[in-house]
Amino acid sequence: MTDSSPWLASVCESDLKSSNTQPQPTTTEARHQYLLEQQFEGARVTSGETVPCYDCGDHLHEGRPVSARACRYSDEPTYTITAVYCAGCAPADLTETVQGRSDVLLAADLGLAMARQTHWTILVEPTIVAAA
Ligand SMILES: [Zn+2]
Repeated sequence: MTDSSPWLASVCESDLKSSNTQPQPTTTEARHQYLLEQQFEGARVTSGETVPCYDCGDHLHEGRPVSARACRYSDEPTYTITAVYCAGCAPADLTETVQGRSDVLLAADLGLAMARQTHWTILVEPTIVAAA
């Protein structure tokens, strides 16, 4: 019996470790959120090097933390970014949701990408804040 106890101990330890770092969200939901976030990694917000805050009009550029709203109607394949907010104007939750439309609120950083001769402001490391 003495042989089996170290093995058992190590299994328990690794189980504990993984549940500490990842608080096991319900798997389908977590996967859905992960896939959603992937859709917005590098997503183009607008051409040019700045994007105005939807609320205050402040010019946001590469490296700024932003909040972005995106929506997708049920017959559309991808989300469209409808508004970008500076950190000060970022809404805490989704409002004005519409039936038949999926809404997402994201927190991200702004990045800059070059495509041919055009600069694009893009989303970097997006995280889903709320989805409806
Ligand atoms: Zn603002």
